[in-house]
Amino acid sequence: MTLNLTPTDFNKEVDDTQFRKKITGLVDEILRERHSEHEKQKPYPREERYNFACPYCGDSSKDATKKRANIYYKGYGFHCYNCKTHTSIEKFLSDFGKALDSSETIYARNVHSESVSKFVTSEKSVDISYFIDPTILEKYAIPKAAIFKHWNLTEIDAPENGWIRKYLKDRHQTNNNVFGWDKKLTRLFIFNLTLEGKVLGFQVRNFKTEPKYVTHTLEMIYKKMEIAIPTDKLFEESSKLSFIFGISTTDFSEMITITEGPLDSFLIRNAMSACGLENEFPFDISNKRYMYDYDSAGTSKALEKIKEGESVFLWKKYIADIGINIYKNKLDYTDVVTIAKSTKINLLPINGFFSDSKYDAFYI
Ligand SMILES: [Zn+2]
Repeated sequence: MTLNLTPTDFNKEVDDTQFRKKITGLVDEILRERHSEHEKQKPYPREERYNFACPYCGDSSKDATKKRANIYYKGYGFHCYNCKTHTSIEKFLSDFGKALDSSETIYARNVHSESVSKFVTSEKSVDISYFIDPTILEKYAIPKAAIFKHWNLTEIDAPENGWIRKYLKDRHQTNNNVFGWDKKLTRLFIFNLTLEGKVLGFQVRNFKTEPKYVTHTLEMIYKKMEIAIPTDKLFEESSKLSFIFGISTTDFSEMITITEGPLDSFLIRNAMSACGLENEFPFDISNKRYMYDYDSAGTSKALEKIKEGESVFLWKKYIADIGINIYKNKLDYTDVVTIAKSTKINLLPINGFFSDSKYDAFYI
């Protein structure tokens, strides 16, 4: 498409709200034209993006719930997490026979070049900043020293902390940096750290009281430390993501393994944990796979996920293949490493033991 631009096109004000309406209207048109059962393919408007079934790859032609294409309002970029198509709004619209008027095109180009160039690391891989700017997480996270002071914690390698040191060593945890110990109340703090080593959230593992695990979001930490809660919308977003362990350290362009608990996530490369079964992993990406614990709750959650077309870990296949007694009824990845070490069994790489096929449900 060629544009005949006049100087006035550059001066015309474009209202962003109106512009969004125009874009989402055009997407709706494209979807009506492309997908026969449009009602099923209805886009999902989210705050920061318009989320819909990708017209490039068909996306949801197999499954009506799959909506992996997105137009991000910040920068007006198009990205599909299924086929990995990444392009500008202008190119996206023209690929499906739609066009903006000249002043809108200028507006889109300006916003796009200003924003997207900063946020996309390369054409193919999308980094975390598509979801949230990492500098925002750093801004709101709390220095570890302040957490230690407030909760009266000591470092794991302090001489008097032999018991908890052994506990962690028995669980193959070698990075003491992500832990703090509350000797008085006998509880372990497990930190979700940013790249700069600040605390975004933490999970408390109680040894003497119930419940056994208590997850603290950023907002809860602010409240307990009596720090005024910023009214900024970005703080709210940061807090919502603060219990997603590994959010600052995960490579979003690679396969992500999602484990039930943070300790397991520390043992697996590029893994994250949403601190429990009930918390859904918030990112709508296709390069993820789930490893819930091998127990009744974990198994039923995995069955639920595989029915949705998600990739899950095939525990029965894995433990049979490495030669662990299949009649064990409760295992997590930490247990597997422990058993393998004590019985000198060779651990197999987990990579070949995930499946998104319903026919493999038998092995979950
Ligand atoms: Zn696609």
